[in-house]
Amino acid sequence: MEYTLEDKPRISELWQIRNDKRNIVAYKSTMESDTYAVLSPVIATVIPLFDGTNTFREIKESIFSIYNIKSVSCTEWSERIDKMFDSLMSIDDFLSTDGKVSASLQQPFHYFVPNFANYHYPSWRLERPLSVRIAFTNRCVCDCLYCFAERNHCEEMNIQQWIQIFDELAKNEIALVDIGGSDILEVMHMIFYRKWCLGSLRFSFQLKNIFLKKKRYDWQEWELVYGIFLLI
Ligand code: SF4
Repeated sequence: MEYTLEDKPRISELWQIRNDKRNIVAYKSTMESDTYAVLSPVIATVIPLFDGTNTFREIKESIFSIYNIKSVSCTEWSERIDKMFDSLMSIDDFLSTDGKVSASLQQPFHYFVPNFANYHYPSWRLERPLSVRIAFTNRCVCDCLYCFAERNHCEEMNIQQWIQIFDELAKNEIALVDIGGSDILEVMHMIFYRKWCLGSLRFSFQLKNIFLKKKRYDWQEWELVYGIFLLI
């Protein structure tokens, strides 16, 4: 995407920014894939400025000011920063000059201060996962011959244990929780636990059409209230 120094970049609403203490991570999770970028320490310093209110030129001036860059090395640094901007612009949908801004930028400024003394960049692995896949239950209303799931009765986690797990996922700013397993409608009462659905976690449920036919639920209301989407 072409841009000039007078453009005002904003992190797109599709992306989230997370402070993993040892680095700042930009990430986007969909059902198809997780995409992420560990930000360089220089960009991490000014990431809250990418909110659509500052031009590239102003962000560049802020970097000069923060790092106390003197005139002798200005040209070299200016070129380096231009390259950093180019690489940010090359990340799929990450920056735009219009549209909604990432909800992550509503965090207070101090949220974006990592441990710069111990900053890991480039990073060979992330500190925390971006999305999580959960096999919710082994119960099922069907009895397919080819079934992979345990057919004998086996103990399942209770709601208190799930509450603990989902609270932890929310605390760790996991973007997407993909819930599958056997027939999750068998444990519907757990999924209706509103607290998980109203925070920053996004859920997807993998269901077979036959489950829906056997049980009657108001899916439209589900989508409205819980913001879920279904793969059938
Ligand atoms: S619907 Fe899936 S989980 Fe249920 S019996 Fe068939 S294969 Fe197993």
